Amino acid sequence: MSQIVFSIVLAITFIVFAYSAIKIYKLFRLTKPAYPVRDFGKRIGRTIVNAFFQERIFRNRIAGFMHALVFWGFLAILVGSLEMVIDGLAGTERVLSFLGVFYDAIMAIGDVSAYVIALFIVIFIIRRTMLNIKRLHGKELSKKNHADALLALTMIFLLMVTLAGMNIFYLAGHNEIVGIYPISAFIAPMFAGISIETIHLLHEINWWGHILLIFIFANILPYSKHFHIFMSIPNVFFSRLTPLGKMTNMDSITKEVKMMMNPETAFAAAPEGEATPARFGILDAEDFTWKNYIDSLACTQCGRCTSVCPANITGKALSPRKMIIDIRRRMKEKGPHLVKDKNYSDNKALIRGLISVEEIWACTTCNACAKECPLNIDHPTFILDLRRYLVMEESAAPCELNAIFSNIENNGAPWQYSHEDRLNWVE
Ligand code: SF4
Ligand code: SF4
Repeated sequence: MSQIVFSIVLAITFIVFAYSAIKIYKLFRLTKPAYPVRDFGKRIGRTIVNAFFQERIFRNRIAGFMHALVFWGFLAILVGSLEMVIDGLAGTERVLSFLGVFYDAIMAIGDVSAYVIALFIVIFIIRRTMLNIKRLHGKELSKKNHADALLALTMIFLLMVTLAGMNIFYLAGHNEIVGIYPISAFIAPMFAGISIETIHLLHEINWWGHILLIFIFANILPYSKHFHIFMSIPNVFFSRLTPLGKMTNMDSITKEVKMMMNPETAFAAAPEGEATPARFGILDAEDFTWKNYIDSLACTQCGRCTSVCPANITGKALSPRKMIIDIRRRMKEKGPHLVKDKNYSDNKALIRGLISVEEIWACTTCNACAKECPLNIDHPTFILDLRRYLVMEESAAPCELNAIFSNIENNGAPWQYSHEDRLNWVE
């Protein structure tokens, strides 16, 4: 009976998750190309260093250490969750115990992690709600964002409590134990006076509570900022390998510029450029690249990028975290309509709708945000694409830049002198 109930619950979980995954996949299908994904060796190396060893997280030693422990503990707990699914389907108990020493190690790490993570989650909740940490607040974080963060933290806390409860009542209700449970082994004897039936019932309650929380949490994640649990590792893997300051050029424009600068050789040397794009840069959701969108799904809203942004620190309107949150917001708002009708318009746009022109031009392109982001999110490339739209589609550049543009057009250089006069200063 319990196997049948478990199978039905698992099937419902998969169906609901597949529904959410298909919706996100359809949104990805709307996106534009970013760059070709090559150099798999380098990408795997970067994923190990940045994602599994949490290299950037450690820049903030205390919070970073706590976050890294939560991440590694989760990896161990994942094996235990997989075992629970097999046990639930097959009616077995601790089916992976045949792994011997490896099983002992995983169970021991999982048991210690349950208590450590529960403690850290309490600290995270106190930090978020009672301490006024600037990085965790900002105009871009709505009440819904804060509620989302608290809901996820509460669910993780309950997951850890039920995991610990499961271990405690497993130890209290069995004479032959498989696996090692260093902390629960100290607590289990406290329940020695309780009847064996009650112990078994408490074990069942914790077992079912834990697995149901996992299933519910997995289905809330696609709609939460905690979707980064799924998206952060892929985002690090697919992050750009070129130096952060390197701007991507459009072939068609490069060709035009080369012809203008050197008409004799450019015709022969210039490669066939790409067809002129329907739109230069990014105005709205239909212009996002797959990298913009995956960045937005991976963002944890931690605010590390905004906390190092010189524009934000000096009081400008720009917050790089907001830029990334706005990508997801706009895709959520307009994307589903675009899936049904590619020409859909709601007479709004990302630029001037969610992101102001002032924010776009406040960026110094210093790349501090991209260097600080633990998930290798690339804010400046996105901001440059917003500027590309303003300059190339609307000619809406700040007046200082307009003077430079006309000098380049007239003189082939950013200065207001002809290039023949360039060496006059020598004389
Ligand atoms: S972009 Fe990166 S650093 Fe900024 S809030 Fe998101 S995850 Fe944190
Ligand atoms: S690149 Fe722009 S958004 Fe990022 S930190 Fe520098 S000024 Fe801020």
